Amino acid sequence: MKRVYERIALIGAGMIGCSLVQALRRAGAARVFAGYDLSPSVSEKARSLGIVDVVATSVADAVREAELVILAVPVRATAAVCEALAPVLRTEDVIVTDVGSTKVEVLARVARTLPFPERFVGAHPIAGTERSGPEAADASLFKGRRCLLTPTAGTRADALAEVRSLWEAAGAVVEEMDAALHDRALAYVSHLPHAAAFVLAAAAGEVAAGDDALGRAVAGLSGGGFADTTRIAASDPIMWRDVMLDNARPVLDAIERMDRMLGRLRQAIASGDGDAVARVIEEARSGRAAVIGARRSS
Ligand code: NAP
Repeated sequence: MKRVYERIALIGAGMIGCSLVQALRRAGAARVFAGYDLSPSVSEKARSLGIVDVVATSVADAVREAELVILAVPVRATAAVCEALAPVLRTEDVIVTDVGSTKVEVLARVARTLPFPERFVGAHPIAGTERSGPEAADASLFKGRRCLLTPTAGTRADALAEVRSLWEAAGAVVEEMDAALHDRALAYVSHLPHAAAFVLAAAAGEVAAGDDALGRAVAGLSGGGFADTTRIAASDPIMWRDVMLDNARPVLDAIERMDRMLGRLRQAIASGDGDAVARVIEEARSGRAAVIGARRSS
């Protein structure tokens, strides 16, 4: 860590924000970590777990004297947080960054509200779990995982360098990416898998809730396949509602592509065309290898 901050403020003391603060605390990145959350019990929990040193009572209270501010709230909540930040961010050298899963809309909110958007650096760690809250924080969450930074043409080079160094201190491998490309790509590798897991789990759950022989058989019968493909369906509804709405166009494009695939599979099964069924599965196998293989070699 190149710089030791006097005070870092965390807005949103949930799983990702607390994991980052834990990692930064380990790296000795700041003398004081202050935390603010919409629910006072959540920030108090973060303090009792030794994640933040100080519980703030408002956004303004949290960022007072902070040199770096981390926004770790559901992406649509960045609107309210930026509005609360705008009148209190008077010092020109404060850096603001975020961890949000979408970038285009977050950057647009920042440009609309913050007095010096050039000192905001958008960030998205490609690491996470289906769990929420400070109890789920893990200081090693970002170790060896990618963190994508989405600077704009106006982003100040020193702010970008500091946020890069912050994530490297947390153990992440940092890359820069255009915000729109980020959102379109993440629609396929993160948002679509969540959408698919949500509807898959909801459909099977609807059957399992039935008070009949099928419902009773489905409930409790699942093996590894169901658990593996639906683990992320246990994720926080507010966090994911915000991602789906913020990134609506790319997510809808991805859902439409999946719909077409599902239609081909449905048609192949309905017509008893075994070759066509096998072709869809072959494409699935090579598609999975292409996506995961490309990630490993990049
Ligand atoms: P989380 O555990 O639910 O934490 C979010 C926290 O933000 C909650 O404690 C919530 O408070 C608080 N909050 C909501 N609105 C707020 C406001 N206006 N002011 C202050 N605090 C507010 O969620 P998370 O998983 O850490 O997600 C946080 C961010 O990380 C999101 O932007 C998400 O897109 C991004 N992210 C998540 C993952 C993942 O795997 N989960 C991965 C990468 C990035 P309440 O509990 O009172 O609502």
